[in-house]
Amino acid sequence: MKKELENYSILNKEDFNKFFNTLLGKYNIFGPSKSDKGDKLNKINSADDLMLDYKNFKMSAKEFFFPQCETLLAFDPSTGIVKNRSEDVDAKNDIIFGIRPCDALALSFFDRVFKDGAPQDPYYTEKRHRSTIISLACLEPEPTCFCNAVGCDVDSETGADIILTQLNSRYLIKSVTEKGIEILKHLKTLIPATEDDIKEKDELMAKAKSGLKSNVEVKALKKKLDDFDASFWQTVHQKCLGCGVCTYFCPTCHCFDMTDEVCNNTGRRIRTWDSCMFPLFTLHASGHNPRPSYKERMRQRILHKFNYAQENYNEIFCVGCGRCIINCPVNLDIRKVIQEILEAK
Ligand code: SF4
Ligand code: SF4
Repeated sequence: MKKELENYSILNKEDFNKFFNTLLGKYNIFGPSKSDKGDKLNKINSADDLMLDYKNFKMSAKEFFFPQCETLLAFDPSTGIVKNRSEDVDAKNDIIFGIRPCDALALSFFDRVFKDGAPQDPYYTEKRHRSTIISLACLEPEPTCFCNAVGCDVDSETGADIILTQLNSRYLIKSVTEKGIEILKHLKTLIPATEDDIKEKDELMAKAKSGLKSNVEVKALKKKLDDFDASFWQTVHQKCLGCGVCTYFCPTCHCFDMTDEVCNNTGRRIRTWDSCMFPLFTLHASGHNPRPSYKERMRQRILHKFNYAQENYNEIFCVGCGRCIINCPVNLDIRKVIQEILEAK
């Protein structure tokens, strides 16, 4: 077998259910389900429940690894004795099936923040170690997608262990990591891929890429963003209501708050999502708030993604998924914000 074909295999569509149900015997699988039209990751109990003709999840995979509200520990408020985290760890590991390449890339950014650096987050890290990511290449991007402008693509592999591409009558499967190779190596439903299969995939990907219409030039942005007091900050926020929806739907936003609460003699420490778009986000106990208005809060959101992430991780913490555009109640389009900043004198 030629070297470039080594990690590829083919799954005929008539064998898909058998392939999927074999994985179900060994793993908990979470993916897009027919019951909610693929809006978010759900536990899948049968291949028949899976929905693969969706555009993208409404909620990204971050919810699975970094829940909106997560109990980290429980305690007895009268004695102060801390109890183990109230979560049963299943004997089976997890497969996250069918997320788009942009969301897999976003998980790799979460890894940089919560797993690969110091201090390491044990709650996130444990879930990531137990999980295998099987992504699904995009054949038909949404008009709001601009992954190509931010270093991602319809078939990006970063963050995935395995990537699937739907060809006409079969799936092309590529193992990206050792974890992916290990999972696929005993599956009898897979057959070797040929050069014609790769050619078909390349043609489909070229067609999908031609559907990405965004031409924002994110690389040129950093220099503009180095000017903290630039005049464009006076205008780019003007439509914003400060609802925080953009950050909640964003697959890379990861700010959180911690609260200890006591109810009926039981205490728990919870972690909940926070948002830089909220007025209380950086309110000090003294009453001082370094980000008192929409202007400073929008500046924080843009700088965190496009400037600080580059300085700290050499990455742009936006994968161009378009969720913030689709879900913003006032149609504030981050591509237009970027364009306005780029065009500012
Ligand atoms: S979703 Fe729109 S209105 Fe709400 S905080 Fe984000 S940019 Fe502002
Ligand atoms: S900023 Fe918007 S387009 Fe970029 S990753 Fe977040 S939700 Fe997606």
